[in-house]
Amino acid sequence: MKLKPVQSEKDIKIADADARVRHRKRLPHSVKTAAEKEGDRIAQLQRLLYADRRYALLIVLQGRDASGKDGTIRKVFTSVNPQGCEVSSFGVPTELEQRHDFLWRIHIRVPARGMIGIFNRSHYEDILVPRVHDQIDKDTLRDRYRQINDFERYLVENGTVLLKFMLHVSPDEQRTRLEERLLDETKNWKFRVGDLDDRRHWDEFSKAYHGILKNTSTEYAPWYIVPADDKDVRDWLVARTIADALDDLDLRYPTADPAIKGITIE
Ligand code: ATP
Repeated sequence: MKLKPVQSEKDIKIADADARVRHRKRLPHSVKTAAEKEGDRIAQLQRLLYADRRYALLIVLQGRDASGKDGTIRKVFTSVNPQGCEVSSFGVPTELEQRHDFLWRIHIRVPARGMIGIFNRSHYEDILVPRVHDQIDKDTLRDRYRQINDFERYLVENGTVLLKFMLHVSPDEQRTRLEERLLDETKNWKFRVGDLDDRRHWDEFSKAYHGILKNTSTEYAPWYIVPADDKDVRDWLVARTIADALDDLDLRYPTADPAIKGITIE
């Protein structure tokens, strides 16, 4: 079983039931072990990505509160050399960021060739938040989709491989996770009162995500919808998609400088 990119509207499956894999038979015997193996594959390929220096890999993670963005980063990249990896989290824009175009703070965090960049939230918040709170008109929304597609095309044409994951949780699973944050004192710090407000806007978020998936899943920067109620399944599917994308790049170590041939070290 593999995640498929969103290629048309019929691929946008974000009903509550889609947050779980229907046919468990299609999963490996131990999903946790399979996820760890894919993580190790990413670590091996990251070494090669770094040496090769032709491409950067940018992973965009989006999802509702408690959909597991932090957990995915922790698990999927656990074996990766930290020197080759940068995580950027995007919260409410600062005063300075608001004085710039919405892609300004994003572009400066795009990874250099040889590096993996992970975005915990992203420029897609600039569609989600104003849409959910009814603060964006149709023309501006259409412009933003186009600007995002142009920006992502530009990145890809300049050596960035871009994979976008929407972690899809059901309302029941979100409730369980938010309750855990309230009850477990080691998780209290993760609870924001604003999360409840966002939860009340469930349908508006679904509509906003639907618009994003429909308008910005492109051949060059595809969206993948991840059934994320089960954490091991989520990690396995995301890790596998990333490892396969790195594999497809046909990465290689640079050829050695001819000057080093025949050198002996005394
Ligand atoms: P998370 O919920 O992602 O685990 P957190 O609770 O620690 O993180 P922050 O990372 O400080 O919170 O900020 C996340 C919040 O910032 C989210 O509510 C998100 O919607 C909001 N946010 C991010 N980007 C924007 C944006 N461009 N415009 C408005 N709000 C934004």
